[in-house]
Amino acid sequence: MRVFNFAAGPATLPLQVLEQARDELTDWQGCGMSVMEVSHRSGTFVAAARAAESRLRELLSVPPNYKVLFLQGGATGQFAAIPLNLAGAEARADYLNTGAWSKKAIAEARRFLAHVNVAADESATNYTTVPAAASLRLDPAAAYLHYTANETIGGVEFPYVPDSGAVPLIADMSSSILSRPVPVERFGLIYGGAQKNIGPAGLVVVIVREELLGRARPGTPSVWDYHAMAAEDSMLNTPPTFALYLAGLVFKWLQEQGGLSVIAARNEAKARALYEAIDGSGFYRNPVDKGCRSWMNVPFTLADPALDALFLSTARAAGLVNLEGHRSVGGMRASLYNAMPPEGVAALVACMKEFERRHG
Ligand code: PMP
Repeated sequence: MRVFNFAAGPATLPLQVLEQARDELTDWQGCGMSVMEVSHRSGTFVAAARAAESRLRELLSVPPNYKVLFLQGGATGQFAAIPLNLAGAEARADYLNTGAWSKKAIAEARRFLAHVNVAADESATNYTTVPAAASLRLDPAAAYLHYTANETIGGVEFPYVPDSGAVPLIADMSSSILSRPVPVERFGLIYGGAQKNIGPAGLVVVIVREELLGRARPGTPSVWDYHAMAAEDSMLNTPPTFALYLAGLVFKWLQEQGGLSVIAARNEAKARALYEAIDGSGFYRNPVDKGCRSWMNVPFTLADPALDALFLSTARAAGLVNLEGHRSVGGMRASLYNAMPPEGVAALVACMKEFERRHG
């Protein structure tokens, strides 16, 4: 029996994708082997990798002057790769701090950069807000501006793309990539770990404007040098072949759904249903400012935290799993990635209403 899996990542994947992977697991494309057993240099695999890239380019309307890289080391690896590749000799960069993942990106950048300017800091609201667009205190000499488009733990999502002027804009979209269309041309670089909206863990996608390549500081490991990786079509070394194959199936599934505008409408409706249930209850609460609530990760608390364990076990019995909040904040969190069907959200809302009726 399939459950509705509300985990923040690794997260639920489309059933259709899993079924296809199952059906071709032992004999992929007539090779007589699984995709995990073929060479990444084989024509069959290279064709699958190219197809995955072109599907992703179509989904996000990636302009031709951008490279798409499939790398390893997770989004955390990118926290280091970005300053190593892009900070230049001045070693100055702007960062917006909107929560736990921003803080980690900033801490890692400080290991490499002499000047990390925190151009906005939402700690005063306990990370329930994003900065006003006009309030950013940008360093005119910064090599780039980095922000976290969606904070997976806090459930805070930017409703706008920050204006960084001529300075390249960099976004950690780990938990929001492919959830809606984005104007890629406004960004210098977009990156995201795969294990939410893309596929299995072990892969990170980087979309980078070509003119930013070739600036890595001396000593940058070649697997994290964007220029070196782009020159080898992300196959400077062995890529995570299974993850890349599965990502290709997810991209195909997204296209079959009708692309990102259809997905965005579905995601918006799913999130609205859950926020309305929370706000209309008096028993459940979401702390995030209404203007920047995440479509993907919805944290909520119960009026009486002593009921948390009972709520979780009641939900689990109804086939709704992984609703625990992040270990650093507690409470509940429902992640509503692309592969979470509207029926899963409806089942969660029904379970919440029934729980409130009994225990509220
Ligand atoms: N950024 C964000 C927004 C995330 O949600 C995560 C993981 N949950 C990371 C970065 C770190 O990703 P990884 O574990 O793949 O390094």
